[in-house]
Amino acid sequence: MKDQCPVCACPNWKLFTTSFDRLFNRPERMWEVRRCEGCGLGWTSPPLPEEELVHHYPPAYLGDTAHTIEAFLAGTLQRSRSWRRETEKIALLERYVSGGHILDVGCGEGKFLWGLDSKKWQRTGVDFAEEALRLVKAKIHDITLLEGTIFSPQLQANKFDVITFWHVLEHLPDPLKVLERAYQLLRPGGWLIISVPNFASLQAHLFGRYWYAIDVPRHLYHFAPVPLEILLRKVDLRVHEHLFFSPMANIHSLKYSLIYWSEAYFGNRLPYYLLKPLLFAFPLLERWNGKYGMLTTIAKKG
Ligand SMILES: [Zn+2]
Repeated sequence: MKDQCPVCACPNWKLFTTSFDRLFNRPERMWEVRRCEGCGLGWTSPPLPEEELVHHYPPAYLGDTAHTIEAFLAGTLQRSRSWRRETEKIALLERYVSGGHILDVGCGEGKFLWGLDSKKWQRTGVDFAEEALRLVKAKIHDITLLEGTIFSPQLQANKFDVITFWHVLEHLPDPLKVLERAYQLLRPGGWLIISVPNFASLQAHLFGRYWYAIDVPRHLYHFAPVPLEILLRKVDLRVHEHLFFSPMANIHSLKYSLIYWSEAYFGNRLPYYLLKPLLFAFPLLERWNGKYGMLTTIAKKG
């Protein structure tokens, strides 16, 4: 089926690498990552069948969700290092829009939405995690959390000032349809923010099958600025800019790529510990050559 690029329809692709599900350590099943010679999109082959999805995602620990909610309400979550992942996203968002209707697609527990000022933002999130959403709804108010996808009929067209996808688009089987729907839901002049691992990055090419963000079979697509721009243009969304974001996700990916590589080659983490000091210099190199590990694309309707 997928013998041509799903984004630019170029018939020429090369095998980028083969890899397995490292999150669950299942080397018995290999997946191919193919790379289009036209636009540079990567895709995982064969695509993960929908009925198998559940076996390749960690189960939701509702205990963890309950604990996180309590920590948020007590104000301790906001002092944790992990909370910075949310605040850096909020700071980025508010460079473009300072308030209004926001939709976060694949919101999980919705932590990003919790962090937004409810006086400025009317917050909506969609996710499959029904039970987790129920727990959150009982404790944190003024957020509309819908179980489902961006295709939920409860979402209103031409309504949203901004729609965000934080490391979600690469998991979805039909990104073009999803972006068409995003276009429909955005108000004219509305913003779209998409964060993905950058398949055209230095770390992707350096680590190959050990690249943490290759994450097969959960990542069905491996985006880069060019293929993302082609997709956005197809749905009439205009790319405003591509950003090197986020630094935290970037260093996390570098760290785990080095660990995977170290364990695969040497059977232990010693090389990782030896090379770890270099990790902090690597992002400078990535920025300098423009092939940063994480990509955030800002696009606009109209
Ligand atoms: Zn292509």
